[in-house]
Amino acid sequence: MKQNYIFITGGVISSLGKGITTASLAAVLEARNFHVTIIKLDPYINVDSGTMNPNQHGEVFVTEDGAETDLDLGHYERFINTKMSGKNNFTTGQIYSEVLYKERQGDYLGSTIQVIPHITNIIKEKIIYGGKGYDIVLVEIGGTVGDIESLPFLEAIRQMSVDMGSEHIIYIHLTLVPYISTANELKTKPTQRSVKELLSIGIQPNVIICRSSRAIPESERNKISLFCNVPKQAIISLEDVDSVYKIPGMIKSQGLDNYICNFFKLTAPAANLSKWDRVIYEESNPIGKVNIGVIGKYVTLPDAYKSVIEALKHGGLKNRIAINIKLIDSQKVELYGVKLLQEVDGILIPGGFGSRGIDGKLMGIKYARENRIPYLGICLGMQLAILEFARNVIGIEEANSTEFMPNCKNPLIFLVKDKNKKNNIIGIKPNKLIGNMRLGSIKCKLINDSKVRQIYNTDKIFERHRHRYEVNNLIWENTQYLGLKVTGRSKNNKSIEIIEIPDHPWFIACQFHPEFQSNPRYGHPLFIDFIKAAYKYQNR
Ligand code: GLN
Repeated sequence: MKQNYIFITGGVISSLGKGITTASLAAVLEARNFHVTIIKLDPYINVDSGTMNPNQHGEVFVTEDGAETDLDLGHYERFINTKMSGKNNFTTGQIYSEVLYKERQGDYLGSTIQVIPHITNIIKEKIIYGGKGYDIVLVEIGGTVGDIESLPFLEAIRQMSVDMGSEHIIYIHLTLVPYISTANELKTKPTQRSVKELLSIGIQPNVIICRSSRAIPESERNKISLFCNVPKQAIISLEDVDSVYKIPGMIKSQGLDNYICNFFKLTAPAANLSKWDRVIYEESNPIGKVNIGVIGKYVTLPDAYKSVIEALKHGGLKNRIAINIKLIDSQKVELYGVKLLQEVDGILIPGGFGSRGIDGKLMGIKYARENRIPYLGICLGMQLAILEFARNVIGIEEANSTEFMPNCKNPLIFLVKDKNKKNNIIGIKPNKLIGNMRLGSIKCKLINDSKVRQIYNTDKIFERHRHRYEVNNLIWENTQYLGLKVTGRSKNNKSIEIIEIPDHPWFIACQFHPEFQSNPRYGHPLFIDFIKAAYKYQNR
């Protein structure tokens, strides 16, 4: 069977929720028993999403196979069952470095290297490779039509219709239909212009999804249909909603999935969205609300902690508890003290890099430990929990991480020794920080007599990692007698993966990132239990 592709482009402005829309459509198609996957093409020139500043670009999402990718892949995994991998995301920088590498190897035999066909060929190859084996491949093109950067991607997807046969390709254009309050009107002109722009590069959209603050009335649908040459049933209205979990239902109710099946000549049972209905019910019928303090340093852009925030919400859904997240700047804790944490029912310290704001985080951990407030430490949040315990309970002088103080007297946290080279891009001199990370899904054993063993209800788990430093484990063999217990280790026992304080209502920290495996339908055991503990603390 020939593969079917759906390309999703964005028009008028960015931030219309293209990632969520793509993920929601994929969820509906998956609920019709199709085997679907999603690929994200990022027009920026960075080669490695892993080194991008979270304050500018949001979090780095880590896949099972250890790829550091755009945060949209997190949306995809939260909406569909297919697991993302390094094949599901690539940037202009990666495409160009591959072409330049080949050129240096002499692969092009001296011919003139051009955007068409050399760059576009690699783009097409990567799309085909990433989508192999799936019934329907959704491809989201980052940026907005009209951006210089995305032109080669648009040209490549245009060519795919010729290569594959237009009956196997659907182009969806997501645009903004603004409401002008003074005129009390929804305006379709920006959509018309954006479609014109697409047409000028040879792409006629098959479907237009209109983002708007209100539902698009019949008359405007007709207008868009007529001016943009798109059948009326393929004009989809996605007005703002209070919950992103409602979007799959909105897509289904307007028959977009039927339109797609008819177009591709596929038959499939109707979409069963009962799992999403359950999520919507859990979200809109809470029995309580907890305040969770997340102490971090990238607090100006909440997307920097996207998966953590989502995982907390999912933990709330499964307890039917609403979550109020307070993003707390760790440097403010240094300035104003732990009074900033007074109203929280649980404290979470997420992953992070570098020494800025470390002291504020340590203050937060001490406060949680001494006041018996539930604490969940993730990656850096675990390393710091160990330092806090070492300094303030055991009394190890100058206990530190070589990340913050390379020549410290007691390096309890130090560089991961077996360097992982798989992240190097061949042909490009590696950035000095790339290539020495422990990345991706790694097996971890949980000890029997532990809280995590109960929470996970198994003694073997797989969780995703992204760290360069780790616990100097020799020192920790005897700490359990002092009140800190190592309850999870890597398969070979070499790496400490989880610690707990048994004499605390809920103090768990892990070297891995559980947030990357949480989704609204099932939640993640650690987050579900953490929220339960926070609720218990609130009602103590
Ligand atoms: N900076 C720490 C390390 O590299 C923690 C990383 C993280 O929190 N993701 O090990």
